[in-house]
Amino acid sequence: PMKQRLLVVANRLPVSAVRRGEDSWFLEISAGGLVSALLGVKDVDARWIGWAGVNVPDEVGQRALTKALAEKRCIPVFLDEEIVHLYYNGYCNNMLWPLFHYLGLPQEDRLATTRSFQSQFDAYKRANQMFADVVNKHYQEGDVVWCHDYHLMFLPKCLKEHNSKMKVGWFLHTPFPSSEIHRTLPSRSELLRSVLAADLVGFHTYDYARHFVSACTRILGLEGTPEGVEDQGRLTRVAAFPIGIDADRFKRALDLPAVKEHINELTKRFAGRKVMLGVDRLDMIKGIPQKILAFEKFLEENSAWRDKVVLLQIAVPTRTDVPEYQKLTSQVHEIVGRINGRFGTLTAVPIHHLDRSLDFHALCALYAVTGDYVALVTSLRDGMNLVSYEFVACQGEKKGVLILSEFAGAAQSLGAGALLVNPWNIAEVSASIGYALNMSPDEREKRHRHNYAHVTTHTAQDWAETFVSELNDTVVEAQLRT
Ligand code: UDP
Repeated sequence: PMKQRLLVVANRLPVSAVRRGEDSWFLEISAGGLVSALLGVKDVDARWIGWAGVNVPDEVGQRALTKALAEKRCIPVFLDEEIVHLYYNGYCNNMLWPLFHYLGLPQEDRLATTRSFQSQFDAYKRANQMFADVVNKHYQEGDVVWCHDYHLMFLPKCLKEHNSKMKVGWFLHTPFPSSEIHRTLPSRSELLRSVLAADLVGFHTYDYARHFVSACTRILGLEGTPEGVEDQGRLTRVAAFPIGIDADRFKRALDLPAVKEHINELTKRFAGRKVMLGVDRLDMIKGIPQKILAFEKFLEENSAWRDKVVLLQIAVPTRTDVPEYQKLTSQVHEIVGRINGRFGTLTAVPIHHLDRSLDFHALCALYAVTGDYVALVTSLRDGMNLVSYEFVACQGEKKGVLILSEFAGAAQSLGAGALLVNPWNIAEVSASIGYALNMSPDEREKRHRHNYAHVTTHTAQDWAETFVSELNDTVVEAQLRT
């Protein structure tokens, strides 16, 4: 039988494109969670539609890139610099991202954002229409169209207006905030209505789904049902689909000689010290200053531990051109410097802070190093947090402990095995660090078993399969109702 075609629409394609000449491009696949999730889905034939992350003003370049991308089953949407500035940097990253993560902006930025709101929102709608135009051009009857994330909230409506028979799903990878937060958006109703044009709307957790339904009932006055949101007899199905990881990919990596060698090296390097591991993009939502302050408190109160524990923080640079993020970087550097000055010795410092990313194998090795590791995730808000899943998947003979913020979506699924903390409560996090470091092997093993069972049975592949089949079912049920 012919496989069903799946059009995956996301702001960014899963490739980076570097221009090599007038009509030649170098492409590199970035194997994120979404890519491996969809590679594993049987019975569908997936294609990607999105922005390649580069400005290509000339037609020769556009044609060459389109051709090169086609081999990777990718279809580009071309956005010019002005629209990227207003839609992506502006509306998506300065408005929706902070709002959906309950982050307040400094007063000045808030006012500036308020003033430029209309031009940014117009660009957002225009950009979404450009994505829709590309989808419409490639759509064939029977295809499933899966729209991703806060960049494309306007897309379901654009698609359905063009073709009401199209099967359209939308999934949000961030939290959806309380309706009291969503209410402050000038575009609150328009965004909700356009998302509701989809057949199926998905979130990582029940809380986010509930917040979305409340926003629709309170702001739009629609009816919320256990199934979703109803508007004049038409149902938009709303449900939780917690994402997972491709756990096998991590397990396979751990068997590679290069990774094993890496693990040996790290084990030697940190011999005699227990390692607390942090892996985050250097973003406000990750609570990195809070984490470091909690670690300082722990050192302050537990002098015996001072030369026996080290915090290894990988802080992946992100949005480095934005002043807010530059400020966060220097704030973190200042705290780290102060603590290392305070507790360091001639030969060792308590915090290793790296402003860099690691490749997949180095990251796996770091997750896996046996030596009584503790992973420390202190997100102030986080849609899911895959780092916590990846850490669990990579534990070897000795089982590391996961300290996890209750404000990460992952807390809903790993709560039984992790030590849950409120990252704002530095005394609590510090106490959990002590508890984790002193935990008996038995308790570590038991907690790990909970987490491991979840991570290996709720994979990215299951997630994608469930969403697509639920979308197909939803459309069939809707047809039966009318
Ligand atoms: N990651 C990476 N290189 C690094 C650090 C992290 O590729 O040096 C990956 C990591 O494996 C994970 C992702 O970045 O899959 C981070 O996802 P998460 O959901 O934890 O947070 P996000 O960055 O999406 O907010």
